[in-house]
Amino acid sequence: MKLLAPVLVAFACVAVTAQAKDGRKVFISVDMEGLTGVVTGEQLSASGFEYGAFRELMTAEANAAIAAAREAGATEFVVADSHGGMQNLLIDKLPADVQVVRGAPRPLGMMHGIDASFDAAIFIGYHSSTTNPEGVRAHTFSSATLADVKLNGVSVTEGAWNAALAGQFGVPVVAVSGDEAAVAEVKALIGDAEGAVVKWPIGFHGARTLTPEAGRAVIKAAVGRGMARRATLKPYKVTSPIAVEIRFKNYRPAEVASWLPGFTRADAHAVRFTAKDMVEAYHVLEFLTSYPSATEP
Ligand SMILES: [Zn+2]
Repeated sequence: MKLLAPVLVAFACVAVTAQAKDGRKVFISVDMEGLTGVVTGEQLSASGFEYGAFRELMTAEANAAIAAAREAGATEFVVADSHGGMQNLLIDKLPADVQVVRGAPRPLGMMHGIDASFDAAIFIGYHSSTTNPEGVRAHTFSSATLADVKLNGVSVTEGAWNAALAGQFGVPVVAVSGDEAAVAEVKALIGDAEGAVVKWPIGFHGARTLTPEAGRAVIKAAVGRGMARRATLKPYKVTSPIAVEIRFKNYRPAEVASWLPGFTRADAHAVRFTAKDMVEAYHVLEFLTSYPSATEP
């Protein structure tokens, strides 16, 4: 078998290219704040009285996306658990042909595992950004520490940042689910992905929401439409090198990060650095939001 290896490698490369045209390999990043029915922290962490129920519902929404992608021809699935400690999904309730990225911190955060072998990306349970006055639990990467994240001077949502990473690998985002504000904000930044609106924000901690069953139907329909239009959806790319600005809620992380080579202090609460690409930008972001002292006053 070893003698045949070069031949097999050659065929493997052809197979990957063919898969890219067929839309068979799908990356699904699943957050919680934008799930159907989520309105407060009671659904979002282990101390909340509804967290267990919403782990079930989060898994069910991931399964709705998987089922719709499968109906559209997908055969390989990587699901990135992308909320909090990133171990919320009930992995025994996912199909056997799914692999799960779980646990944190990790260098590519909500998108760890993405690469150029994927044909489509799907975001489930996403929320609006910390600069958006609308949206349930609106924040960007860290509600405790960050007040804004900019790529090339433009404030982005987690969805847009993650889409830019997928775009570096040539992978288009085909569908995004969340509340109405979250879906509108991501689409305004990255373009024409399909949106699955599962609730309508009333405030930071309130929404008019679909029932879980109806939410899953909306997600299935959006993923189906997105997969069908996949070939026409352009990967979202940002111009490189990328000017990244991270704004902290507290002055201290900005002060000490500005001492690092390559960092400048944009103002009292923000630092700027230049990343050669989104992988590098993501690594720095994950460092700044994971390093213990970054959360101290
Ligand atoms: Zn989250």
